[in-house]
Amino acid sequence: MDLIVMDVVEDTVVDGPGFRTTIYAAGCRHHCPGCHNPQSWNPDNGQRVTVEQVAEQLLSDPFSNVTFSGGDPLEQVEAFTELARWIKAKSRKNIWCYTGYRFEEICCSRRLAQILPYIDVLVDGRYMQALRDTDLLFRGSSNQRLVDVEVSLQLGKTILINYEPLPIKVV
Ligand code: SF4
Repeated sequence: MDLIVMDVVEDTVVDGPGFRTTIYAAGCRHHCPGCHNPQSWNPDNGQRVTVEQVAEQLLSDPFSNVTFSGGDPLEQVEAFTELARWIKAKSRKNIWCYTGYRFEEICCSRRLAQILPYIDVLVDGRYMQALRDTDLLFRGSSNQRLVDVEVSLQLGKTILINYEPLPIKVV
């Protein structure tokens, strides 16, 4: 299966805690005003790579964890699910995923929800310029949340991770 990506960047420190390898998906239908990366909206701006190629690159780094960003990785949920499943089967890396969809919307869609068992933290919701807050860690506007996916699925309600001032739970 193929992914369409804008870039794969190693050792980033802004897309979740610690050193991470971030895969920037091409394609996003949310079109948020003020989006930091509007060229990522069009999937034709990306490059096609196989899930296997990206997985091998990620797994060759024994230290970095993984972030899916974009664009919106959930526009390619089948391929990103395969990648996430591969990472979880072969490593102990944690996976953060950015998306313009809300967690509750994802849970209501069998197609979108297929990725959730492999995601540790979901940074959810569209970027909203009116709610922009430069003091927030790992997100641009205050409507966006850091969802603890495993606990949320276990309890059947949305549970957030609090990173201020220190993380309650580090995943
Ligand atoms: S969801 Fe993210 S990538 Fe998509 S338009 Fe909004 S800010 Fe941009």
